Amino acid sequence: MRAVVYEGPRKVSVKDVPDARIERPTDVLVRITTTNICGSDLHMYEGRTDFETGRWFGHENMGQVIEVGEGVDKVKVGEYVVLPFNVACGHCKNCERGYTNYCLTAQPVPNWAGAAYGFADMGPWPGGQAELLRVPWGDFNCLRLGEDAQEKQTDYVMLADIWPTGYHATEMANVKPGDQTVIYGAGPVGCMAAYSAVIKGASRVMVVDRHPDRLAKAEEIGAIPIDDSKVDPVEAVTEMTMGLGADNGCECVGYQAHDPQGNEHPNMTLNRLVKSVRFTGEIGVVGVFVPEDPGSPDPLYKEGYVAFDYGEHWFRGQKMGTGQCPVKRYNRQLRDLIAGGKAKPSWIVSHELPLDQAPQGYEHFDKRDQGWTKVVLHPNG
Ligand code: NAD
Ligand code: ZN
Repeated sequence: MRAVVYEGPRKVSVKDVPDARIERPTDVLVRITTTNICGSDLHMYEGRTDFETGRWFGHENMGQVIEVGEGVDKVKVGEYVVLPFNVACGHCKNCERGYTNYCLTAQPVPNWAGAAYGFADMGPWPGGQAELLRVPWGDFNCLRLGEDAQEKQTDYVMLADIWPTGYHATEMANVKPGDQTVIYGAGPVGCMAAYSAVIKGASRVMVVDRHPDRLAKAEEIGAIPIDDSKVDPVEAVTEMTMGLGADNGCECVGYQAHDPQGNEHPNMTLNRLVKSVRFTGEIGVVGVFVPEDPGSPDPLYKEGYVAFDYGEHWFRGQKMGTGQCPVKRYNRQLRDLIAGGKAKPSWIVSHELPLDQAPQGYEHFDKRDQGWTKVVLHPNG
């Protein structure tokens, strides 16, 4: 089968790799129709991780079931399914408590972050930017879709990661109807957090970034864009909220936060967010931070330490939630919003490409080139 293979920093190519196949009775084999390039793929693409050359990416996957193992009794051949990016067994201590993002079985390293398809340090699972994908513990890890699956595939594929992740940020930040919410980052994840806040009934959603096309996307759903290359975002948010600060906020950038000139400051968005959110406010951080980043230009962050203004956070009596999204916790409800015509997260998609054009997709998305907000790949035409 063909797959998007990692060849080294900023180099991927579409190559023949061994076919995915049923290996255990609980496996499901999926022919991928739709798979996204994610900001999280860029950590590996840019060579910041120990992702091995020859492996392939792809953790935002959807497709049609073409074979099931003999131990699978729910998922059926022919059905369309979307696959939460977390690979999870469903029966370990963490999965049973709903933390499929920290599954203890799918992640072979004890006491380590959970597992995902096509990801550095997140288990051996191959990715879905390929013609076929093996889904382990298939009954647990497939979210079944209805008859509108193909027609709405660019909506449903967002259930694999970015919409539940954006939603998770708003859950950790406790966004409620009437709230004023600030989001740092207008990438796909930030835009989905903004979308979730709008759907939850926030009275004002403010989104901070500096790419005009991405800010324009956020504006499309009624968010207020704040361009931090032109204004101080903390001042802008404080002014808009009559001096109090936002009720809550989401961090959707992560350790690659940079200033508008392109210099990296892993602490920039966290510290600005803390100052943009009111005393007693709540914060959800889904942007990725890692225990160590040898390539970071920030000497502190090389060791994984962020120069975080904890005094300000403590003084304000704020709460903060962190970590990967447990996609399964939200994705049935979010699926049903799409099925019921109440949500259409595909508004974020800028490009749909065949698998062969994945290298161009990576190049443009990595440079945040104008207009490249979210790239969807179709491995089987
Ligand atoms: P992206 O890189 O496309 O978007 C990030 C955006 O942040 C860009 O538009 C960039 O201009 C903006 N930005 C950079 N510095 C900024 C600053 N100082 N102030 C405001 N905006 C700034 O990535 P994405 O796909 O949207 O993902 C965002 C983050 O979420 C990444 O770290 C990704 O790995 C992470 N993520 C986490 C989870 C999870 O489960 N927690 C899941 C998916 C993605
Ligand atoms: Zn992703």
